[in-house]
Amino acid sequence: MPAKIHILKSEIANKIAAGEVVQRPASAVKELLENALDAGASRVTVLIKDAGKSMIQVGDNGEGMSDEDAALAFQRHATSKISTSEDLENIHTLGFRGEALASIGAVAQVELKTRRIGDDLGTLVRVEGDELKETSRTVCEPGTIVTVKNLFYNTPARRNFLKSQQTERRNVTEVVTRMAFAYPEVSWHYISDDETILDVRPRSFEERVRDVLGEKQSSQLVRISEKTDYLTVDGFIGRPDFAKRNRSEQYLFLNRRFILSRAINHAVFQAYEHLLIKGTFPFFILNLSIDPRKVDVNVHPSKMEVKFENESNVYRFVLSVVKRALATNDLVPSLSVSAGEEGGIEGRLRFGRPSFVPGHAALPGGSQPAGMSIPDQVDLEQLFKRARSFQEGVAINSFAPILQSSAGERIVQQETVPGTTEAGAGGRAIWQVHNKYILSQIKTGLMIVDQHVAHERILYEKSLANFENSLPSSQQLLFPQTLQMAPADYVLVKELLPHLETLGFVLKLFGKNTIVIEGIPADVRVGSEGKILQDLLDEFKQNEHHATIDARDNLAKSFACKAAIKAGDRLNTQEMISLIDQLFLTSMPYVCPHGRPVVVKISIDELDRRFGRT
Ligand code: ADP
Ligand code: MG
Repeated sequence: MPAKIHILKSEIANKIAAGEVVQRPASAVKELLENALDAGASRVTVLIKDAGKSMIQVGDNGEGMSDEDAALAFQRHATSKISTSEDLENIHTLGFRGEALASIGAVAQVELKTRRIGDDLGTLVRVEGDELKETSRTVCEPGTIVTVKNLFYNTPARRNFLKSQQTERRNVTEVVTRMAFAYPEVSWHYISDDETILDVRPRSFEERVRDVLGEKQSSQLVRISEKTDYLTVDGFIGRPDFAKRNRSEQYLFLNRRFILSRAINHAVFQAYEHLLIKGTFPFFILNLSIDPRKVDVNVHPSKMEVKFENESNVYRFVLSVVKRALATNDLVPSLSVSAGEEGGIEGRLRFGRPSFVPGHAALPGGSQPAGMSIPDQVDLEQLFKRARSFQEGVAINSFAPILQSSAGERIVQQETVPGTTEAGAGGRAIWQVHNKYILSQIKTGLMIVDQHVAHERILYEKSLANFENSLPSSQQLLFPQTLQMAPADYVLVKELLPHLETLGFVLKLFGKNTIVIEGIPADVRVGSEGKILQDLLDEFKQNEHHATIDARDNLAKSFACKAAIKAGDRLNTQEMISLIDQLFLTSMPYVCPHGRPVVVKISIDELDRRFGRT
């Protein structure tokens, strides 16, 4: 059998969404599982120790590799899965970037043992911190076993980014669980520190869901399966009473690849309109099957973000399928209102539907699903309350780019004051004072916002949200900036790279302490990106010295502080409105990440008092 792996030509390699894929043990596990499935495995074993920090081992009974391929596999852009640019348009495998093994090999001690079924002997390859240490013949079972030890042993900054043992372990478990749902025909055996967490045989999809969730939980689910020429939706949705406090149990797959899609999640949520208690989210496991040519998974290195050719159609279809399933299963009338519930049925009707969804102004196709626009007259206090009730679930990171906001529907709509014509259309009373403060009329009086700290709060929360779900949004720079750095800073950038990418930076490291900034986070003003990056690093190092501050928090704070608009930056009306709009969607609009006040309110009573009007 000829070798199968080749190095992608640079013109194809350059079309692959750039970036590091290995940010934590769970991302390494995900890549290794994808490889096992792509190799046609019907049995996969996952072993982790210390939440994957000291060891990850993934074994499969797939097709294996030749000795030649086994050594090639660790090179960047080495893949057997695509070879031409056209292949990128039509991806049938979970992997295609040819970067996972290279990335893992660069930050760990890796051993790969592999044998093809027809070969007498297998191959052993050892790689450590990017160096090929050994290749030899070995005796092993057909298939492949990859053992990853001491992840991030040579990148302390990245290691510092890991969360608690518990959190990292849960992330790995999530990854394995998703795979188990999506691949019921495969047997999965998952062991963490000698404890078997999952051990499931090949089964039907229904049986697999029952095996993983247990009898009790799966009895709360309703089966869904609908098909059009374009799209198939298949899976389970939870009864409204089975709703969850957060969205971690929403399993969305596209052609059996786990994906994150705000739009599709929202479609499901929307279908439950009126049925959910405030602050809860439906459970679902849904797989969408679409011709791979009609979707693009080459959007982000994690391959979890996708672009649909026609997202608004997919949205509508999912919405109607879920709605119908809820109706035909008689789930709607079975809704009971418990007495102690906040606001009772009224409360549900008022808050249970996302009539206000941050960041959703621009749903694809320009279609605004019903109930998504903000009512005409909303005062700030109420907006704030509502934002609170939704931010837990409706993506904090969905802030529209503040400086590109096409706001209009989503803006803070204040009382219209007859005769007030200042500052833009629609009778919104908003002014910028000394290019530093934003003044705005609210129902109870007057509000003054410090524009810098307000933006800082927004960017800070957005960054934290990005770290949670690793889906940054960047803006490409028209003129990439080359930056010559101090060697220590260069090393720091290299180590922080995946996290900087998560923030939205697109950086190329050229060696010799040179980096090129090709893109910056979507909500940063274009113009001084080199300075922002340098300032951010300085701030990060500064904080690192004195403080028990968590690395993630440090980076988020440093970034927010340095990238936020400054006192002295002139804002137009749209920008001011967008800023305030987003500020009140944060969890803490009144204080900045460093504890400074963001908003000062002066009540009309106070003004009256001062002017001697009693
Ligand atoms: P990609 O999966 O994007 O091709 P990877 O770096 O993950 O890139 O893997 C490189 C290549 O190594 C794959 O294309 C595949 O040919 C081979 N490979 C990796 N893991 C396995 C495995 N478990 N079984 C068989 N082949 C594998
Ligand atoms: Mg792969």
